[in-house]
Amino acid sequence: MPADFDFEFRSLFSQPKERPEEAGGGAPSTLKARLYSALVRSQQESGPLASLDATVASGHEICVFEKLVQIAPVAERLKSPFFCGVCHARVLAEKLDNPPIFWPHCPYVEFKKS
Ligand SMILES: [Zn+2]
Repeated sequence: MPADFDFEFRSLFSQPKERPEEAGGGAPSTLKARLYSALVRSQQESGPLASLDATVASGHEICVFEKLVQIAPVAERLKSPFFCGVCHARVLAEKLDNPPIFWPHCPYVEFKKS
């Protein structure tokens, strides 16, 4: 994943810190979840996502379910799909503003905190 994609993604989903009173609370977490899903699908159209090993090696945290796949003895190419996209966290986060999901490092869990 190119570094500028990381910057653009963080800019889209971050809250302005200088004047939070003007931020108006930011976008609903359901919108962020749906946008994230759409962005990842769009990214996948240009090629496979970075593998989980590469993601961890570049210093990013991965979802606990992705961690299970990462440590599984399977080929590297099988570690590139968007696992959070098939997880029930995605479905809940796209439908509910405060979804009952709590596991660490899943982007869909992070959206409800923002
Ligand atoms: Zn996840």
